[in-house]
Formats: sequence, C-alpha cells, structure tokens
Amino acid sequence: MKAKLIFSLLIMFHAVAFAQNVNNIQMPELLNDNARKTIHIPDILGYKTLKCDFHIHTVFSDGIVWPTVRVDEAWQEGLDAIAITDHIENNPSKKHVGGDDNSSFEIAKPRAEQKNIILIHAGEITRSMPPGHFNALFLKDVTKLDTPDYMDAFKAAADQDAFIIWNHPGWKAQQPDTCKWWELHTQLYKNEWIHGIEVFNEKEWYPVALDWSMDKNLASMANSDIHGITAGMYNLEKYHRPMTLVFAKERTEKSVKEAMFDKRTLAWFGDNLAGKEEFLSAIFTNAIDTEFIKESEKGKVYLLKNSSDVPFHLISDDETFTIPKKGEVMVTVRDSGKKYKISNLFIKGTENLSVSLPTK
Ligand SMILES: [Zn+2]
Ligand SMILES: [Zn+2]
Repeated sequence: MKAKLIFSLLIMFHAVAFAQNVNNIQMPELLNDNARKTIHIPDILGYKTLKCDFHIHTVFSDGIVWPTVRVDEAWQEGLDAIAITDHIENNPSKKHVGGDDNSSFEIAKPRAEQKNIILIHAGEITRSMPPGHFNALFLKDVTKLDTPDYMDAFKAAADQDAFIIWNHPGWKAQQPDTCKWWELHTQLYKNEWIHGIEVFNEKEWYPVALDWSMDKNLASMANSDIHGITAGMYNLEKYHRPMTLVFAKERTEKSVKEAMFDKRTLAWFGDNLAGKEEFLSAIFTNAIDTEFIKESEKGKVYLLKNSSDVPFHLISDDETFTIPKKGEVMVTVRDSGKKYKISNLFIKGTENLSVSLPTK
C-alpha cells in the first residue's frame, strides 16, 4: 500500500515537472535520420558482400536532389558504396546551379566520410546511340571527359584508370525496337573501354545484356539511375532500390575497384539476382541453413531456413516451392540428388541457376 502511494506520488511529481515546461518540448522519437536498414545478403567465398549503386544523379545534371541527400539516402537504405554520375554533356540546371563536373562529388564527400559511405568520383558520358551512355568510375577529374569527340572522352576516362559501364543498353529512347550491340561497342570493347554493363537500370531489365556480360566477361550491374528521391521512386517498404553487389576483400574504395575489375559482381533487382553461376550458387548455399526434422513415408523431412533478403523460388519437374526471404519452409525429400531451377536467379538471360537442396 505504501509502495503504491509512493509510486502514485512519483507519477504526479513527474507529471507536474513535465507539465511545467511549456516553452519547448522535444520529441526525438519522431526522427529517423540515424536509423539504417540492414540488408541481409551473406558474404561469400571469403569476400565481403557490398551493396552498391553506381548510377545516381543530382542537381549538378538533371537530378533534383542536392548531393549530400544522396549520401543520406544510401546510408538509410543500408548501402556501402555509391557513385554520383552526373551527365557530363547535359546540365539543365547550369543557369541556377554553378560549379563544374566535379562539384557533386566535392559537396558529397565530407558527408560520405561522416556517414561511412564509400563515395566514388564519377560522371556519365552522355551521347546519342551509338555509343549511348556510359558511366566512368574512379575518376580524379571529370571535366577532362568533356570533349567534342566521344572517343576522346573514353580515352580521358581510360587515362584516369576508370572503370567504364555501358548504361541502360536497351533504353527505349535510344534503342526503341531492340537492344543491340553495335560495331562501335566491339571497338570500345577491344580497346578495353567497357568493363561492366547494366543488365538492369531504374525499373527495366535487359536479359540479352546479361548474355553479353557472360560471353564477354563484363561485370553485371543493376543501378537506380535515380533523379528524384529514392523513397519517392521505389517501394522501399517492400523492395529495395536496384543494386550491384560487389564481392570485395575489404570495405574500402580500393577493394571495390579491384573487385569490379575482377568482375566479382551480381545485379540485384526486385527479388532477382543475375550474374555468374559461382556467385549465385554461393549466395544460395550460404543463405540456407538446413535442419533435419524426421523420416516420413514419403522421404526425409527438412526445414530450410533462409537468412537472406532474397527469396528463392524453386522449380522441378513435379513441384514448385519458395524459401521465403528471412523465413523458412518444410520440405519432404525422397531423392537428395534431385535438381531444381531457381526461377529468380539468372545465369543467362533465359537460364536459371540449377541446384540440389543442401540436405547432406
Ligand atoms: Zn543515361
Ligand atoms: Zn543516368
């Protein structure tokens, strides 16, 4: 009884003390600026899996966002690295926003250091087709790429040891009826001026570009090409922005660059992953944990647990099932060597990863 009385008095005292401040009551619980989403994709093959977006615009070309906001978005969405890739030849905001082709990087850099985001100095070579649009990454001076002849722009990028990505090869504004590899691309490729290709850009995917990336050993990439704010463009509650997963030795810019030139990437868009078989297979194996439940008349019963944010849709001749993201499914296995296709993991434009269940 006494304890109850003291408790009541404490509550009253607290209420009185609280009510006394009528000038300014802070409500920090409304804020979200330090919160960061965790993306669950396992590390593989001794590498760290870094989540990256290598195609982003700001007000320093035709984007509508200040460069520091790009860093904050990347932080909140759980990314490790971004490249701000403003158009070199196209800056409609020039009249209202000063600066040059290096400004977006210079403005965002201190914020990136503060937020522990790897910020890559870059620009988008923006030409009509062919050759189309290309991102040059790891530049020191983007202004050197502003040349009348596009071949000089590629050369200026190569002189700075840039990693060069063919952007949105099937973009309808430039290839309305097809997604075609032109003779000029063969020339750029032979010059070693194409190292990666977007198999996915913004909201569209180009299966044929995945075939090219496998045939020519180009890094497979998925990037947002975001111009507005990401939360306005993508359903971030349900999905994530398109990302390029980079398998790097360390979480540093140097390691990201080394991994990209070694073509250790996967494209991640919606629930899909696309790229080299060895990386897809390792992601699946490392994401799934298997628990034996019991013997049954129809075979052995297992619980397959998926610790990743990628669901796995499995298909065989006579069954289909999904191992949900961050979830589990019970399966009965008669033949442990049985092969399944995972319909959302692509090793070619029209070919899926083939696996057996990890039930040993
Ligand atoms: Zn573009
Ligand atoms: Zn772009």
